Amino acid sequence: MRYVSTRGVGAPQRFADIVLEGLAPDGGLYVPESTPRADLAAWRRLGYPELAYEVLKLFADDVADLKNIVERTYTREIFGSDEITPLKTLEPGLHLLGLSNGPTLAFKDLALQLLGNLFEVVLEQRGERLNILGATSGDTGSAAEHAMRGKQNLRVFMLSPRGRMSPFQAAQMYSLQDENIHNLALEGVFDDCQDIVKAVAADAEFKRRHRIGTVNSINWARVAAQVVYYFKGYFAATASDAEQVSFAVPSGNFGNIYAGHVARSMGLPIRRLILASNENDVLDEFFRSGRYRPRKAKEVKATSSPSMDISKASNFERYVYDLVGGDGARVRELWRRLGAEGAFDLSHSAYYRNLSETGFVSGRSVHADRLATIRSLWQRYGAMVDPHTADGIKVGLEQREAGVPLVCLETALPAKFAETIREAIGQEPARPTGYEGIERLPQRFEALPADAQAVKRYIAKHAA
Ligand SMILES: *Cc1c(COP(=O)(O)O)cnc(C)c1O
Repeated sequence: MRYVSTRGVGAPQRFADIVLEGLAPDGGLYVPESTPRADLAAWRRLGYPELAYEVLKLFADDVADLKNIVERTYTREIFGSDEITPLKTLEPGLHLLGLSNGPTLAFKDLALQLLGNLFEVVLEQRGERLNILGATSGDTGSAAEHAMRGKQNLRVFMLSPRGRMSPFQAAQMYSLQDENIHNLALEGVFDDCQDIVKAVAADAEFKRRHRIGTVNSINWARVAAQVVYYFKGYFAATASDAEQVSFAVPSGNFGNIYAGHVARSMGLPIRRLILASNENDVLDEFFRSGRYRPRKAKEVKATSSPSMDISKASNFERYVYDLVGGDGARVRELWRRLGAEGAFDLSHSAYYRNLSETGFVSGRSVHADRLATIRSLWQRYGAMVDPHTADGIKVGLEQREAGVPLVCLETALPAKFAETIREAIGQEPARPTGYEGIERLPQRFEALPADAQAVKRYIAKHAA
């Protein structure tokens, strides 16, 4: 499989070339040149690692040892069960797909654990080193660190706002004692951390000299890894490949639901992809109106489903590329308009019709909806869900159709968001074994001022 940029410039690349990269040189995102076909009949019987291998080898056919990488990634030891993503049936036709049983209790582990192993092998094959630089408000950073810890030829420099994460989140990151993990706790807020990452990345010479890379959600390997559980969830919720299923997906950067769109393009019988936004409703606005208007950083509201608090949806450009029939020049033009006018509107274009054909519908869920959903699931089914999952369920139930099974994606465990759970049902969420008292473990981090020069000096001294 070869990869091209959504903005249409440059020669096609191989998977091993793009997996270590962020954006394509023309500023676009890499997408596969063609869409591979699923073999539902053969895949239905497979266990998770076998299924993951069948899906991933379609996208990463140039990675030697892929089978071994996949088998080392999707294990009971790492994900808590042989099913990896167990399906829980709440009532006939209504299911929860458990995606958050990995080391950091959120769905990002499913893709990042694979990415860590892929990076290690690809770096080894190419005789290269990589220093990953990122900023986190809690979740992505810990999933990345747990995926990259102890890996050869790889170091992680993760900027976090000191004292502003939940004690649980801070403990998940700062308790890692691996030498290749560097937690830089900055005196500032998350935006300061992100600005410093941008400032460092803008210094091309520094970036090249120290081989700085990222693990952001636009990495195609992350999308491909997420395609797998749509198949797994479909097979678990149906008895035959003739049935259709809808998926409800709490969305932020559009990575998770975009993987569902890819699965659907490959031939998975998905009826609706139900996108749930929280108060930060850029995506819901687009699917309702055809108008895409990313928010300014200061317009982003801090909500009780914080991993969906986004200003713009990084992966969205890939979907638009599909809507306009893979016309890179057209995508370039839309993103030029976005830069100039801060928005674009597809509602009057012929492409808008393609939107309904892709099966997307959307809705919005706010704090009160979240609390009501957590409460109602607890009362009706004895199921405790986290605030993000609750957003997905709220919108999913609004868009549910009679006779079509609905699979709601569980994107985090309630233990990560105890405060909102207490507010909703007055109970403390249970912690999975191994996570009791992690706040008391010894912590290892470097306190630094929120200053790009200080961060650069630290990286220069400790880079691989
Ligand atoms: C990242 C995240 C989301 C949003 O997923 P996207 O791929 O960014 O759309 C939803 N819920 C949780 C718990 C997350 O960590």
